[in-house]
Amino acid sequence: MEDGHLRVAVIGAGWAGSVAAATLAEAGLTATVFEAAPIAGGRARRVEKEGRAFDNGQHLLLGAYRRTLSWIDRLHSPTAYHRQPLEVVSAPAMTPALRMRAPARLPAPWHLAWALLTMDGPSLGERVTAIARVAGLLATVPPAEQTVADWLAHVPMSMRRQVLDPLCIGALNTPPEAASARVFAEVLRRAFFDDARDADFVIPALDLSSLLPDAALTEVVRRGGTVRLATPVLSIHRAPERGIAVETRAGRETFSAVLIATAPQHVPRLLSTLDGEPSLDPVRDTLAGLAFEAIATVHFDLPFIGGLHPERDRIRLLDGQPGQWLFLHALPGGRVRASVVLSALDGAPLAAGGEALCAAVRRQLAKSWRLPEPLWQQCIIEKRATYACTPRQHARLCGLSPLLRPTPYRPIAFAGDWTEPSLPATLEAAVLSGERAARQLLDCLHR
Ligand SMILES: Cc1cc2nc3c(=O)[nH]c(=O)nc-3n(C[C@H](O)[C@H](O)[C@H](O)COP(=O)(O)OP(=O)(O)OC[C@H]3O[C@@H](n4cnc5c(N)ncnc54)[C@H](O)[C@@H]3O)c2cc1C
Repeated sequence: MEDGHLRVAVIGAGWAGSVAAATLAEAGLTATVFEAAPIAGGRARRVEKEGRAFDNGQHLLLGAYRRTLSWIDRLHSPTAYHRQPLEVVSAPAMTPALRMRAPARLPAPWHLAWALLTMDGPSLGERVTAIARVAGLLATVPPAEQTVADWLAHVPMSMRRQVLDPLCIGALNTPPEAASARVFAEVLRRAFFDDARDADFVIPALDLSSLLPDAALTEVVRRGGTVRLATPVLSIHRAPERGIAVETRAGRETFSAVLIATAPQHVPRLLSTLDGEPSLDPVRDTLAGLAFEAIATVHFDLPFIGGLHPERDRIRLLDGQPGQWLFLHALPGGRVRASVVLSALDGAPLAAGGEALCAAVRRQLAKSWRLPEPLWQQCIIEKRATYACTPRQHARLCGLSPLLRPTPYRPIAFAGDWTEPSLPATLEAAVLSGERAARQLLDCLHR
């Protein structure tokens, strides 16, 4: 069959599915993208409500997100994001205060050593001990079953509380007591031990759907593909002749291959109608049993925020009671959008709901800055923001990798953050997975 006649269905237009579809389209295949929601982007998307556009959740990218940044750079002008060398400054009300900055001119890992040695906060002795201990820990791969809290047991508590724990919660969306040491070690290696620019903070300047998914899907359409938003796939089936039939409310359509790029909890239902595939039973069982962590994002539009300037002070570390990070964005007319992230949210704060979280975050910010009455506020709680990055779940997802490869008999590939478990559930994991799944499908179809 000519490449031009190979039709592939991509289910899900999150970051993984959008990148996968664009990769397939660039390789000459005809991609049809099915997305259940009216807007592409999945868990990193634009929300349009009450005449305003905002993101479902404030996202932070790192310089180490090399594939993600390469796609964004290719699809946009450089104004799509702000990039700044690693700088962590705590809110004034946080005690002890933390201020840490990596100089742009030192190579890795000396930029980090410099940042830690010159930071405010823990004593010099604690900082030196922490550098030596973490460097020693990173010399080997942590045991698969170890948690971050156990792994860091001999690192001074002040450095854990002020630097490493917030990093773990921010990167893995899982508390250190439950988080996988192996995955956290990989994050530290990628962010701090290769190129100094890997530790840069990259803050989107566009909404999350525009930043990558919309632009990648435009490329798909330009190359002859189709994008069907607000079109959930109800089931997939083996086609009577060859290929896979995809069922939507409009009926069944047959494709040469299917690439499933949904969040993990949506995969078991899609696979449930695929007869004669016992090799996928472990995939169904593992994904049906996954545990998740929530993230809430509280957005305020303010006439100003006393003591901060959105173009200078883009990000501040908070004390975690309840918000962990504050991001500032300049809005037209001198107004400011303040977005506060509450990661690994559970228990009473999660149960309290959006109104109570907005009020709690306002009280928290008002301890550090002069906070006028908000012009608008919104809290979005994503209950299944990411799978919990625990040692057990990490091991189970790693075990699925060999089962996810498409074969000529079963031309089904899988993408999504959960398919790249060496990294936590992040945009970079999603993008890497989309590229990898598209390549696997191309290999399989060309065999
Ligand atoms: C609030 C929040 C904050 C986060 N912060 C960060 C951060 O700071 N940095 C970072 O790197 N990562 C962050 N993440 C994680 C990151 O957003 C995810 O890892 C990434 O977006 C996952 O992308 P994906 O394409 O794998 O899956 P998804 O985004 O879940 O995309 C799957 C898509 O499939 C669609 N779909 C599902 N079922 C069907 C069906 N039957 N038919 C058709 N379509 C279907 C869904 O609607 C969705 O659009 C955050 C996540 C959240 C929720």
